[in-house]
Amino acid sequence: MSDKLDLHNIRIVLVNTSHPGNIGATARAMKNMGLRHLYLVDPEDYPSAVATGRAVSAVDILESAVVTSTLEEAIVDCGLVVGASARSRRVPWPLLSPPQCAEKVAAECHNNKVALVFGREDAGLTNEELQLCHYHVNIPADEEYSSLNLAAAVMVISYEVRMALLRRVGEPLARTDSSHDVASAQGQAEDVVVAGLDWDVPRATGQQLESFYTHLEQVMIDLNFHDPENPRLLMMRMRRLFGRIRPDQMEISILRGLMSHIDMLNERATRNITVEQQRKERKNQNLSQSEPQV
Ligand code: SAH
Repeated sequence: MSDKLDLHNIRIVLVNTSHPGNIGATARAMKNMGLRHLYLVDPEDYPSAVATGRAVSAVDILESAVVTSTLEEAIVDCGLVVGASARSRRVPWPLLSPPQCAEKVAAECHNNKVALVFGREDAGLTNEELQLCHYHVNIPADEEYSSLNLAAAVMVISYEVRMALLRRVGEPLARTDSSHDVASAQGQAEDVVVAGLDWDVPRATGQQLESFYTHLEQVMIDLNFHDPENPRLLMMRMRRLFGRIRPDQMEISILRGLMSHIDMLNERATRNITVEQQRKERKNQNLSQSEPQV
């Protein structure tokens, strides 16, 4: 395993895999490319001797694989989530080619955990699962038969990530100001800065984003802006908007603070109480919460 490459923050996530042979072949492909962390979301047949057999010398990857029941759990701590999809979906989503995906992963994996997510052999990833991803990646295979075997798809993406990281070996971790200037002159400033290694705060994790979306949805319902009985595509569009921006942890915390103030304003309006009354109530609540339990 090449220690020069910084691959420890990158995980491969297989969702609801039905054939254990594909799990074993994935472990082998990962180990070939220097990746170690395998997450299995609700695998249909695992552990399995078939998986072990196909893994050959990558059994250690299987032994340390993490099994979860949902995709949310597998990406809970990830700041970059990319879903591999063989088809274009009804809802357009930011789409990367394998080399673009690899560049993004290589640029961000130093200070963010990264998940590369792969779907079921028969039906790929559901729309809900695809919406948990910041980006989608598509391998531009032949139109006549564009769906790769699961482990082959893992190999293509892992290989690209490895190549992108190899290209970076020897590059200084922090970009100099002049490299930003060059990038802006080439009209790539946004991507370089957003994807750059010198971003000051880590990206919000899957869990922070999920709590943020739950809070956002509640605020929009409370304001009668969003009708859960007739949700249309509002939350999907919000997820896509924030997925495109990819807020960092500080930005999410500011947005959560702002929404808490909207909550307080809403409470004052609905209960017809003053700021002072509300402050007093909240202080008492906090005091009683911090009283020692006897
Ligand atoms: N029949 C499924 C494809 C399943 S292949 C469908 O049409 O969606 C299993 C998984 O391998 C996919 O979910 C995807 O993660 C990955 N995969 C296969 N072919 C791919 C391609 N051309 N580009 C990106 N990912 C691909």
